[in-house]
Amino acid sequence: MTSFSPDSKATSRGPIRAPSAIPVDDAVLPFEVDALDLRGRLTRLGPTLDEILAKHDYPAPVGKLLGEAIVLTTLLGSSLKFDGRFILQTRTDGPVSFLIVDFKAPDRLRAYARYDSARLSGAQGSGALLGKGHLAMTIDQGADMSRYQGLVALDGGGLEEAAHEYFFRSEQIPTRVRLAVGEEWRGGEPGKHRWRAGGMLMQFLPKAPERARQADLHPGDAPEGTVAHTVREDDAWVEGQSLIATVEDIELIDPDLSAERLLYRLFHQRGVRVFKPLPLHAQCSCSRDAVSSMLKSFTPKDRAEMVQNGKVVVTCEFCSSVYQFTPDEAGVG
Ligand SMILES: [Zn+2]
Repeated sequence: MTSFSPDSKATSRGPIRAPSAIPVDDAVLPFEVDALDLRGRLTRLGPTLDEILAKHDYPAPVGKLLGEAIVLTTLLGSSLKFDGRFILQTRTDGPVSFLIVDFKAPDRLRAYARYDSARLSGAQGSGALLGKGHLAMTIDQGADMSRYQGLVALDGGGLEEAAHEYFFRSEQIPTRVRLAVGEEWRGGEPGKHRWRAGGMLMQFLPKAPERARQADLHPGDAPEGTVAHTVREDDAWVEGQSLIATVEDIELIDPDLSAERLLYRLFHQRGVRVFKPLPLHAQCSCSRDAVSSMLKSFTPKDRAEMVQNGKVVVTCEFCSSVYQFTPDEAGVG
């Protein structure tokens, strides 16, 4: 089964050591808390996030929302074990009508958003910026393989809620996700800031599946007077949720707090084991050759319409790279 969840069978018993004090940016750190049957991943993003967002010069609320989507993508996509692609997209009716994050295993990230600047000022928070629509998560394993797509409705909530809804409805794995994005202002230079982000995904994966029963997320459309279906959640999962609930946004993005120290702060009483961090990079996959073959796939009429001032100019939406072609090179004429 294709799944965005950590591999519950992966184990590597390393020596126990003190948590590293050295912050590692731009990486996903897998972890497990054996005593509570918890597995998870913690992402820290610094220069990689800044590089992606700085190319677009987004208004702060758009940058923050796209940053959240990027962190969520790293938490979900980093479980892919093949040389594939994980794509997270939203299509909604809010001020940010479209966003896409493209993760190419093992480590490449690119992303962009479309928004209506006139509508931004009235919208507070991720849910209001997105509005209503859906979030799609696609695993693409290449031309000869089938695609897997998970869909979840966005109904005024943010990306954390959408992730909870997805894991509850589609994978039936008790899951909590935290996402945080912030701007770090440097040395009093006006206007000089850098984006940082962090996030955590934590799942309850007990050996006995009946322990993973979950209480309903929403009461649903049950008629009035219906007795609510109550499920008593497993004590280990109750404890896990209460621990992740204590994580503050500032802890997730703090450049002076290492991912390992944060995990130790949360789980030291139960014992936490971390695995090898997976590095992340901002890198677009566009190229002049790829744009050229895309142009060739258009009809001659479409190509002719693209000629402006004697040339065809194509700008990559992901990385803002500009590619120029003569009409001849673009196959016009
Ligand atoms: Zn590009």
